[in-house]
Amino acid sequence: MSKNKSHGQELLEKLSYKAHNAWNKISDKEVENTFSFCEEYKDFLNKSKTEREFVKQAKKIIEKNGFISIDDIISSNKKLKQGMKVYRIIKNKSMILAVIGSNPPQKGLNLLGAHIDSPRLDLKPNPIYESSDMVFLKTHYYGGIKKYQWVTIPLAIHGIFIKKDGTSVEVEIGEDEKDTVFTITDLLPHLAQEQMQKKMSEGITGEGLNILFGSMPFNDEKVSDKVKLNILNLLNQKYGIVEEDFQSAEIEFVPSFKAQDVGLDRSMVGAYGQDDRVCAYTALRSIIDLKEIEKTAVCFLADKEEIGSMGNTGAQSTILENFIADICNLSTDNYTDILLRRCITNSKMLSADVNAAIDPNYEGVYDKLNSSFAGRGIVLQKYTGARGKAGASDANAEFVAEVRNLFNNNKIVWQTAELGKVDQGGGGTIAQFMANMGMDVIDCGVAVLSMHAPFEVTSKVDIYMTYKGYKVFLEKI
Ligand code: MN
Ligand code: MN
Repeated sequence: MSKNKSHGQELLEKLSYKAHNAWNKISDKEVENTFSFCEEYKDFLNKSKTEREFVKQAKKIIEKNGFISIDDIISSNKKLKQGMKVYRIIKNKSMILAVIGSNPPQKGLNLLGAHIDSPRLDLKPNPIYESSDMVFLKTHYYGGIKKYQWVTIPLAIHGIFIKKDGTSVEVEIGEDEKDTVFTITDLLPHLAQEQMQKKMSEGITGEGLNILFGSMPFNDEKVSDKVKLNILNLLNQKYGIVEEDFQSAEIEFVPSFKAQDVGLDRSMVGAYGQDDRVCAYTALRSIIDLKEIEKTAVCFLADKEEIGSMGNTGAQSTILENFIADICNLSTDNYTDILLRRCITNSKMLSADVNAAIDPNYEGVYDKLNSSFAGRGIVLQKYTGARGKAGASDANAEFVAEVRNLFNNNKIVWQTAELGKVDQGGGGTIAQFMANMGMDVIDCGVAVLSMHAPFEVTSKVDIYMTYKGYKVFLEKI
C-alpha cells in the first residue's frame, strides 16, 4: 500500500492528527464482544435507575466476584493482602471498591471515579393533593433538566419510605409491562396559543411538574378529597404507610421505558440515566475483571454529582479520602498521616464521566475540531469549566501524555473534546475535587447524544472501548 502513496500523503499521515471511527479499528471478534457487552449493560441499566438501585445491583455482582466488605476486615482486625478485593457502601447511595496491588499504598493508587445519580423528578416532602377529581404529586426536579422533555412520557416511581417505627419499605412501580405508570400532562395544542409564545425554559415550569397519580374517589359522602383518601388507603394497604411517611422518604420519578438498541444497525444504546451510568458500569466492570496488578486499583461511584457533589454521599465529602486512609492503615502496621498524603499525591485518576457528542441537528454550538463524535472511541477531556475555563480541573500535559501513550500502545481508540464552543455554556465533573486533593486527574468517558434527556443515546463501540480503556488504565498506568 505505502508504495503507492505520494510524498504529500506520507507526510500528511506522519504529521497530522486525526481521530478514527472505532468500528473500523476493531476486529470482527471485538465487534461481537461489543454487542454482547452492551446486552449486559442494558440489562444492568434496567435494574439500576436510581443511585440506590445501582448500589444494590453492583453489590450483588461484586460479591459474586469475590469482593468483601472492608469494614468486615476492619472489625475482624485483619490486614489487606495483595489480590484482595474490598468495597464499602456509603449510606446505600455511593460505593467505593478496591483491588489490592503488589505495590505499597505510598506508591499511589490508580482510580476511576464515576457518578451514579442522574437527573430526575424527586417528590417534595409533602407532595399529595387533589384537584378536579384527580390526585397529583408535587415534585422538585433533581439536576439539570429541560422541563418540557419530562411531560407526557410514562414515568415510574422508585424509592424508599422510612416509617415512624424506623422500618423501611421500598417502592418500585412502572417498570414491569403489566405495571401501571404515571405521567405529567401537557396542554393540548388547541389551547396552547399563549404557552407556545413563551420561551422554552418557561413553557413548562418547575411547579407545573405535577405527577398524575389517581382519579378514583373513596365512596363516602361524609369526607372531602375522596380521591386523595382512596390513594392514601391504597398506599396504606400495599406499603403500610401513612401520609406523614412521605416526609421521611426518597421517592424518585424516572422514565419508565427500557434500555433499547437504537438504529437499524443496532449500533447505539438508548436509555435513561446513561449520564453517568455508562461510565459507572464500564468502570465497575473493569475493576471486577482485573487480574494481577501492581498499583492498588480503586473505583469510586459517587452520588450527588448532578447537584454539585455536596453532602456525605457526594464527591466533595471525605468519603473517598477516608476509604484510602483505611486502605493505607490496613496495608501497614505503622499507619501515619504522611502515608495517606503520599498515597494520594502519587495517585492517578480517570474522572469517568460523559461528554456531549456532536449533534448534527445543533452543530452551531460545537467546535467540530474539539468535539467528541459518537463512535470515535473513549473521550479524553483535558478540562471542563465555563467562561474562560472557570471552575475547570485542567489536567497537566504530562499526565495527558501518559494516558494518550497508554491508549495508543494498547489499541484503545480515543478522541479528545471540550464541551461545546467557547462561551456557549459548560459544566463540571467530580474531577476537580480529586485534583484538589493533589492527584493527577483527567475526565475520560463516553460521548452522549441528548444528555440529561429522558432517553439518552450512546454508541456501543464507545461503551466497549471505554471499558477497555478503563481496564488498561487500572492495570498499567
Ligand atoms: Mn455526568
Ligand atoms: Mn450530568
